[in-house]
Amino acid sequence: MSLTSSTVPTVTLSDGEQIPQLGFGVFQVPPQDTADVATRALLAGYRHIDTAAAYRNEAGVGQAVHAAGLQRDDVYITTKCFNDDHGFEQAKRALHASLKRLEMEHVDLYLIHWPVPSVDQYVETWQALIELQQDGLARSIGVSNFQPAHLERIIAETGVAPVVNQVELHPYFQQTGLRREHADLGIVTESWSPLAQGKVLEDPMLVEIADAHGVTTGQVTIRWHLQLGNVVIPKSVTQERIEENFDVFGFTLSAAEMDVITTLDAGDRTGPDPDTFVRP
Ligand code: NDP
Repeated sequence: MSLTSSTVPTVTLSDGEQIPQLGFGVFQVPPQDTADVATRALLAGYRHIDTAAAYRNEAGVGQAVHAAGLQRDDVYITTKCFNDDHGFEQAKRALHASLKRLEMEHVDLYLIHWPVPSVDQYVETWQALIELQQDGLARSIGVSNFQPAHLERIIAETGVAPVVNQVELHPYFQQTGLRREHADLGIVTESWSPLAQGKVLEDPMLVEIADAHGVTTGQVTIRWHLQLGNVVIPKSVTQERIEENFDVFGFTLSAAEMDVITTLDAGDRTGPDPDTFVRP
């Protein structure tokens, strides 16, 4: 078993590493349930888990890898440096603490969770991530919730581009301008809240497309992310949804169906605004 033998395609990052295009998110999975939920996801076939120090459930993710009978190299693990860990030394300490909770020697992807521009320490935090990668503690480094100005500044000041920007993205909030900027900078777009936390799932247009393929609106939405070329990390604690969200490789949306979904963009952000968000 290896990442590349899974049914999930991988995307090549600008540093040459591969990321499984479909992963499993564990935001809002209670810490005491995370080992069980993440184990069930791994047994369903997911090989990529997205956690964060702020979710307080990294330990459960680490336990799940063992419980599912997998080796460290069989799984792709992302975690994130939270807002109160910005700063050069602080960010380094934060990854060491995450690795301890995960019981791992390295993560596959380490992200700055939010830019927190009001504190203005994201450049030195990024500098710390560059060193952490050089030290082998993170295979790849990236950011989350960065706006174009934040991306351009870290690249200008360090010469190192993030491989990924993980941002809110779903049919009601499609981030077209930001995706274009990512393409120009060689940054892979990763979609968080890919189902808008369930808000898109009753959309009549998505229902129509789902019915045409004999699948669910959740599956259509995840397929849309994949066909855009994004990495996507749906979350569920429900067994049948965990399996359903992984079963998205047996059908293809037509160009016309992709175009219909494009028309659903409402500029409708459900999460915080990255320009102002400081704490949860
Ligand atoms: P999602 O868009 O993945 O939606 C999750 C919600 O949808 C849950 O309530 C879940 O219910 C429900 N759901 C999942 N699948 C289905 C389905 N097939 N049919 C019906 N309902 C379904 O939201 P998240 O906010 O969790 O985003 C996913 C991941 O993105 C997070 O877990 C986290 O890893 C990441 N994230 C990152 C952020 C960042 O700032 N970088 C911010 C927010 C999220 P149930 O669990 O009850 O089954």
